[in-house]
Amino acid sequence: MKNITVIGSGTMGNGIAHAFAQCDYKVNLVDISEAALQKALATITKNLDRQVQKGTITEDAKNATLKNITTYTDIATGAKNADLVVEAASENIDIKLKIFKQLDEVCSPNTILASNTSSISITQIAAVTKRADKVIGMHFMNPVPIMKLVEIIRGYSTSDEVTDLIMETSKKLNKVPVEVNDFPGFVANKILMPMINEAIITLQEGVAGVEEIDTVMKLGMAHPMGPLQLADFIGLDVCLNILRVLQDGFGNQKYAPCPLLVNMVTAGHLGVKSGKGFYDYSGGTKDLVLADRFKKKVAELA
Ligand code: NAD
Repeated sequence: MKNITVIGSGTMGNGIAHAFAQCDYKVNLVDISEAALQKALATITKNLDRQVQKGTITEDAKNATLKNITTYTDIATGAKNADLVVEAASENIDIKLKIFKQLDEVCSPNTILASNTSSISITQIAAVTKRADKVIGMHFMNPVPIMKLVEIIRGYSTSDEVTDLIMETSKKLNKVPVEVNDFPGFVANKILMPMINEAIITLQEGVAGVEEIDTVMKLGMAHPMGPLQLADFIGLDVCLNILRVLQDGFGNQKYAPCPLLVNMVTAGHLGVKSGKGFYDYSGGTKDLVLADRFKKKVAELA
């Protein structure tokens, strides 16, 4: 394992490229958008600068990390010499199936193909390739350079050898890999999303307001962030999509998205990325201000 190709250079792709490059892997970072690639390089540079300022890496290590990354807009060129491809393109099944079909054609038969998907079935992705034993999930957490966990998802046909190799590779990135099987939501989102949904139901039912719900979970359960604030950070549209995957995948209504969540997404209140969700981010993400409609709700409850 020396040459890594990362497909998609957005939030996750740039972090995954950063993590591999810092551990001395040669990384080809591929995106259909040249602007996205430039933004990714700027983000990686900024994050490395922060590490230098904190004294966790040297200026030389920063420069070596950046030297390990090459960018491409063409998948065929960017992936042809890869030992491992980690796909982190947009969470859209058609996009992912097209990418994996193409990777299967352009990569060596020995190349391992991993996906960073949060919710799409690894078995379904593997089925469009002729190497289902070498297709696996590597679910990194955001922000990748900081978060220790990688969920390693075994598709129905993923081999033991490939699983072991990807577990070892994750450890070389100084991460803690956890092996899980391929069922909707894997482990992280199967547990997290129902909790977020229940927090929104609790708000909708008027049991408590936004800050009260988050405070109970932060101070009572020692969570670093309340579930409503976390939902804003993940993106309410992303939460809604994952709940639908759980509902369809298990055929169980207990995962049905709360109507308030559906309304907020329909209205374009997506959380941090749109400037407003359960909280108002117009003043930045540091100073959380309750969105007006929820301020009113809390006042009504008082
Ligand atoms: P993003 O929207 O920030 O970035 C996606 C990138 O993929 C964009 O730059 C886009 O131009 C690129 N892209 C789209 N189609 C492509 C193609 N055919 N070839 C190459 N590049 C293409 O998305 P993200 O938040 O980084 O999410 C990426 C993946 O990681 C998704 O599968 C998501 O579910 C998963 N994930 C996200 C998070 C998170 O917190 N954001 C956490 C864990 C996993």
